[in-house]
Amino acid sequence: MTAPSMHRPCPVCARVNTVPHWQKGGLHLVRCRDCGMIYANPIPADMASGEFYDAAGKDYYLSPAKLESDYADVRFERELRLFRNHCLRGAVLDVGCSSGAFLYQLKQRWPGDYEILGTDVSGPPLDYAESRGVPVVRGDFLQLDFAKLAVPLPVGRGEGSRRPGEGFAAVTFWAVVEHLAEPKRFLEKAHSLLQPGGLCFVLVPNFNSLAVRLLGARYRYVYEQHLNYFTPRTLTALCAPKFKVVSTRFTHFNPVVIGQDWRGGGREVSNAERGALLKRTTAYKQKAWLKPVKWAYSLTEQSLAAFGLADNLALVLRKRS
Ligand SMILES: [Zn+2]
Repeated sequence: MTAPSMHRPCPVCARVNTVPHWQKGGLHLVRCRDCGMIYANPIPADMASGEFYDAAGKDYYLSPAKLESDYADVRFERELRLFRNHCLRGAVLDVGCSSGAFLYQLKQRWPGDYEILGTDVSGPPLDYAESRGVPVVRGDFLQLDFAKLAVPLPVGRGEGSRRPGEGFAAVTFWAVVEHLAEPKRFLEKAHSLLQPGGLCFVLVPNFNSLAVRLLGARYRYVYEQHLNYFTPRTLTALCAPKFKVVSTRFTHFNPVVIGQDWRGGGREVSNAERGALLKRTTAYKQKAWLKPVKWAYSLTEQSLAAFGLADNLALVLRKRS
């Protein structure tokens, strides 16, 4: 029996005019002839609704390896730096916050500067986030009414405090938008929740990366959980109606993943393996005696970033009035 699937128009321009791009197992990628967007079509119904993440994803998001590396100091280093460069205080909403590690770090590093709130469809990681003191709201972001929330909004100190009914200073989507069947609606909702001039941070895998150029469909991040495959041009086109691009950045580079996928030839990588690798990569980053290696690595990452070839693509966006 095949799982139910659904067809969708182009997530960027909403037209239906595609040619096949890649096929990998049951995953069919198409390219939009009008705007160049690469996306999965059709997609499994449970992936479109987010149901998948509350069921099958549970073991991965709560595996000790994943939690440990999520909460390691170095895990959200780049995201935190980028965020702090543009937003110094105020109420922050992290959409798809999972176990809450980004918000936790934000609060730890700059106590008193931010009021934090996380949201996700997946229940168990949110329980964990709460156990670490990260306030969360549960449910479908598109359905949630943030003005009428039953949970009390976190009370902040100082100037950045958000009074009921006020917008957020920033909304973040760290590695979330590539998972969404209707990404445009999420960005529109984020726009409606931001205060005038508020910021939106979007980080996705970069489809122009060196890894994608070398590996093609063999790359492990070409897989069924990723529904959208953005380049700087298509991500900007997605956000442009509601936001002005303040900054385009390229971050991260994982040579271990490239090596493994090159040898593996595109076989499926289990969630347990993903978790173990994440833990190992995080451990490398924490070792002091690896300083020269880290220096060389950092230089490579910076060069790739300069040419737009790093693994991830991040946009800092300002709300248009
Ligand atoms: Zn299109």
